Amino acid sequence: MLKTNKGIEKDDIYFFNVNVDINGLSDMEAEARLRQFGTNELKKKKRKTAIEIFLSQFTDFIVLVLIAATVISFFLGEIIDASAILIIVVINAVFGFIQEYRTERSLEALKEMSAPSAHVIRNGKIMEISASMVVPQDVILIKAGDVVPADAALIEANNITVNESLLTGESLPVHKSTVKISGGMFIDIKKENMVYMGCPVVNGNGKAYVLATGMNTEMGKIADMLQDIKDDSTPLQKRLDRIGKELVGISLGICLIMIILGILYGQSTYNMFFAGISLAVAAIPEGLPAIVTVSLAIGVQNMLKRNALVRRLPAVETLGCTNVICSDKTGTLTENKMTVKKIFVDNKIIDVSGIGFNLQGNFSISGKKANIRSFPTMDLLLKTAVLCNKSELRIPKKGNVEAVGDPTETALLVVAHKAGYTSKNLLTMFKPVGEIPFDSDRKLMSTIFRSSNGDIYIFVKGAPDRLIELCSSYQVENKVMPLSLTYKRMITSVNNEMAGSAMRVLGLAYKKINFIPRELKPSEIESSLTFLGLMAMVDPPRTGVTESVLSCKRAGIIPVMITGDHRITAMAIAKEIGICNNTNESITGEELDKLSDKEFEKKVKNIRVFARVNPGHKLRIVRALKKNGYIVAMTGDGVNDAPALKEADIGIAMGKSGTEVAKEAASMILLDDNFTSIVKAIMEGRIIYDNIRKSIRYLLSCNLGEMLMMFVATAINMTLPLIPLQILWINLVTDGLPALALGMDPPEPDIMEKPPRPTNEGIFSRGLGPHILFSGLIIGASSLTAFSLTQYLSNGNVELSRTVSFATLIIAELLNALECRSEAHTIFEAGLFKNIYLILACLSSFILLLIVLYIPPLRLIFKTTPLNLDSWAIVIVFSTIEFALNNIFKK
Ligand code: ATP
Repeated sequence: MLKTNKGIEKDDIYFFNVNVDINGLSDMEAEARLRQFGTNELKKKKRKTAIEIFLSQFTDFIVLVLIAATVISFFLGEIIDASAILIIVVINAVFGFIQEYRTERSLEALKEMSAPSAHVIRNGKIMEISASMVVPQDVILIKAGDVVPADAALIEANNITVNESLLTGESLPVHKSTVKISGGMFIDIKKENMVYMGCPVVNGNGKAYVLATGMNTEMGKIADMLQDIKDDSTPLQKRLDRIGKELVGISLGICLIMIILGILYGQSTYNMFFAGISLAVAAIPEGLPAIVTVSLAIGVQNMLKRNALVRRLPAVETLGCTNVICSDKTGTLTENKMTVKKIFVDNKIIDVSGIGFNLQGNFSISGKKANIRSFPTMDLLLKTAVLCNKSELRIPKKGNVEAVGDPTETALLVVAHKAGYTSKNLLTMFKPVGEIPFDSDRKLMSTIFRSSNGDIYIFVKGAPDRLIELCSSYQVENKVMPLSLTYKRMITSVNNEMAGSAMRVLGLAYKKINFIPRELKPSEIESSLTFLGLMAMVDPPRTGVTESVLSCKRAGIIPVMITGDHRITAMAIAKEIGICNNTNESITGEELDKLSDKEFEKKVKNIRVFARVNPGHKLRIVRALKKNGYIVAMTGDGVNDAPALKEADIGIAMGKSGTEVAKEAASMILLDDNFTSIVKAIMEGRIIYDNIRKSIRYLLSCNLGEMLMMFVATAINMTLPLIPLQILWINLVTDGLPALALGMDPPEPDIMEKPPRPTNEGIFSRGLGPHILFSGLIIGASSLTAFSLTQYLSNGNVELSRTVSFATLIIAELLNALECRSEAHTIFEAGLFKNIYLILACLSSFILLLIVLYIPPLRLIFKTTPLNLDSWAIVIVFSTIEFALNNIFKK
């Protein structure tokens, strides 16, 4: 059963009893409808409010234990202890809240940025708006690659097929046709006249009139089914979660042993219970999940600054492991700013001057000015260039020319304009009657026009090697001749020569027909054509792309070009930007088709340029590379690229030229379509992983140090070197900021000189585990020794000794934070002041230490005492041991 916003229902058929205005709404009408029907969105999961985020800080296991401890201390009359724990818990919650709130909001903002858009006609003009702003009675434009933004009836349709598998389960695209309008009303709207929200347009283009939006759409009815929660945590987050749980188990076991031992040694149950809890807090890296999420969120923001919008968080981590980037050529490696420089017509090669959208330019042959009127076929060639074209040049009276549409096509409009041919003039003589849009599989586009004298023309343009196979004749100097093999070879050699100078070449052809067929089948329309000529255009490499290719190679990442363009053009550009030099390293789609999967898997490792491929080939390429163990990043823009984008480890959609379908399938969107941004995103991925490792190293080694110190002291029945409140203070207050700052550390200079990290690499690999053990051991041992030494020198002054070990531990940990900045380099090599956040974090934590030592009420709570110079000397010596040893070993 289908339903309209007007509420009139009938099986499978819409009735819409309003006057249909197919010219679109005005802004005011749209606003009124937006108020009436709401935004065009499916019900969203409720987002957490600030208060909910704050309260959720108190549901952590460790915090619940601490709250229980507060209550127990309170009832036992230990009011000071109780209030101190409470204050620590609250400070910890505030830190946690700030981190989580910022992270949530920034990730949400990213999601909003990648929300789909729609093209509507408002105030008589085509506008791009967020799909959520589409309202009933809007007129929308859809084309292959779009995701239909709302349920709408087609009022114009050129070969539209839509994939409705989301609604019907049917995976084959469904053909759609226009609805009948009579007396300004839709009559008898059938399913085949409707396009539905969320369904990708596979082919063609058209206009549609919106009947239902948001929850009133067919998709709205199944919205609940679509909202199943997707787990978006990264593999590292999942692994850390597991490790965290294991550590909880182990530390609770150790605490229990310690409590029992303490009680057996005659300590009071309350003291041991409290000490046990604080040890648990010391052992459990409760800050770790938050630090990881914050590091990821910061990294994602940095990527955005470098024009890479991450749609799925796990991608951030995979980026650091990427070892192959399969990149489209046009627009990603090159500028996609096309200019026609050569024309082949009437057996002559004509040079064209001027670049870009400069409409002034001359035609010449071998340096001599040529009059285009002296080439009889030129007239039809330029008419084909202008009329087989969906793009537009907007030429203001003053200012720059603006181009709308595909750069390949606007280049044709510019060259035609140089010769005095414009679509405005031609459309007074030719009326459009049909079109078969360009697609990357056929590599052709055709349009049908009726001329003012009643002739019906089919104009075709496309890849010359494809087009020529569909031609049966050619036209030279107004004579049409059968296309011989010799002439075909001649065209091919001209094409190869042009392509050899890195130019994209288009072939143009036409035919006349007697009547317009009811159905426009490419096989019938694009056959028995008459070849007219070639147009070759330059498309320079993007600035910086050569450097990025080099940087990839140094970082152990293989850059691969995948293009629909001709092999010779592709190779010429690949050579220019340093992807490869040897034609043996290239393959065409046709050659690829002849290889079995096994043969291809063997060969794929050595291929750097894939030319004349279809989007379908991309899927084979990704699979073959993955079979070889590569971690593949793959770019794509068209609707047919979506399967390859999904299959790739990192699917990257183009932000500017990409279709909505490609964007939905991708895990990352390149806002500037630039290859260089992929390399920067990979670097950012490496930075994030490195920084997470730094935070892990810091937090775990500190926790281990504290735990060892307390456990050893209990086991040998000596006075505990720290009171529980001191441990809580260190863990929940002074540890947090440096860990967070490590998550924002700048990269090490050689970050892009190392090979990518293997995906199966464990968190503690490359020496991280032993490093944590070593640092933890030294930190614990030196603080314990500082404690014993002070006890010895002060004749058993416990308060002073504890203050010394408290200060030693905190300072050792802060120095450890600085040391954790680099795994291989000493802090001085890595640059002491490179991470200003870390310096500030360490300074604030140090000031917090001084506050606890020197402010009397806090001294009372934390049972500390001011230190004299001798004590400070002990603190300084013992707190620097770990830092010094690590730096010496690194040296
Ligand atoms: P990539 O972006 O993958 O590097 P591409 O953009 O060159 O490659 P396609 O857009 O699939 O790949 O184009 C393939 C071929 O189709 C081009 O080499 C050209 O000959 C032809 N072609 C491109 N655009 C059009 C168009 N608008 N009309 C007709 N033919 C076109």
